[in-house]
Amino acid sequence: MSRFWSELVGALTPYTPGEQPLIEQLVKLNTNENPYPPSPAVLDAIRGQTGASLRLYPDPEASSLKAAIATVFGLDAASVFVGNGSDEVLAHTFCALLKHERPILFPDVTYSFYPVYCGLYGVAYRNVPLDETLSINPENYAADNGGIIFPNPNAPTGRLLPLAAVRRILDLNPDSVVVVDEAYIDFGGESAAKLVPDYPNLLVIQTLSKSRSLAGLRVGFALGQPHLIEGLERVKNSFNSYPLGRLAIAGAVAAIEDEAYFERIRRAVIASRELLIAGLASLGFEVLPSAANFVFARHPERRGGELAAALRARRVLVRHFRLPRIEDYLRITVGTDEQCDTLLQALAAIL
Ligand code: PMP
Repeated sequence: MSRFWSELVGALTPYTPGEQPLIEQLVKLNTNENPYPPSPAVLDAIRGQTGASLRLYPDPEASSLKAAIATVFGLDAASVFVGNGSDEVLAHTFCALLKHERPILFPDVTYSFYPVYCGLYGVAYRNVPLDETLSINPENYAADNGGIIFPNPNAPTGRLLPLAAVRRILDLNPDSVVVVDEAYIDFGGESAAKLVPDYPNLLVIQTLSKSRSLAGLRVGFALGQPHLIEGLERVKNSFNSYPLGRLAIAGAVAAIEDEAYFERIRRAVIASRELLIAGLASLGFEVLPSAANFVFARHPERRGGELAAALRARRVLVRHFRLPRIEDYLRITVGTDEQCDTLLQALAAIL
């Protein structure tokens, strides 16, 4: 028993999610949620589900959601995969498409779930260092590899890779699956989704958790040519038959279809981000340019951990990473203007 535990279970290094406190009256800027509620159409659609419909299993293909997503991106429904949040879509991607004898590549500073999935599925990997500006350099992705994955914008840096650079990585790696994790793309980037028809090796992953304010509903999706989507479907069908429940499918379709609301809150977050960056800079912070709904910043004279603890004492939560190269940085989610202001005032008092 103890040998089994230490050799199998004990060898897994699970992901540590950001804190989700139950306490009200906190300014919660630590896990990149959207400060605005989802479209009212989402709640209407969820309420529209009846007891009679919930009695029945959901559509195993979530066809209505795939169709809605396909329409937005001008793709065929066979190019769409849906799952329980993009974390699940990523898990299936590591299992189906990145499992390979040669190591896969991802940046040394990136979404910390990637090495966790590698550990879970036995995928070998190699970290590719970001350059001195903490940016991804496409030319560093030319080495022989079993696949490539990176977020765009990258997390936790917020730095965007222009579409031409994404294309360069694809061109350098015609024989590898290249996965672009676009969890934050709607806050200032150009999606690689439009490259899907041209690149049989491209998989784009997005989520409704950030720009559609639905982190609590758990819906993510992948876009790629049908042979890649087929690989994901096979893994999914090996785990469960019904990836999304009826409430999630109904709510997600309504969120996808309410383009006007999406545009409005997306623009509001981008505007608040610019105010937040200016405010942090005026307090002496070095702030990386951000195309996401968070900013990555450090103060030249104060340690990140110390600032995060002092903010917490003032009921403001931000995320501090204890990783080499970025240990002095704070990752701060863009809140409403009011929340950003509370954070800036707390920092002014601390500094
Ligand atoms: N990718 C990146 C880069 C993220 O930061 C996150 C959020 N933690 C996710 C994927 C997963 O988001 P979700 O599962 O809520 O779709």
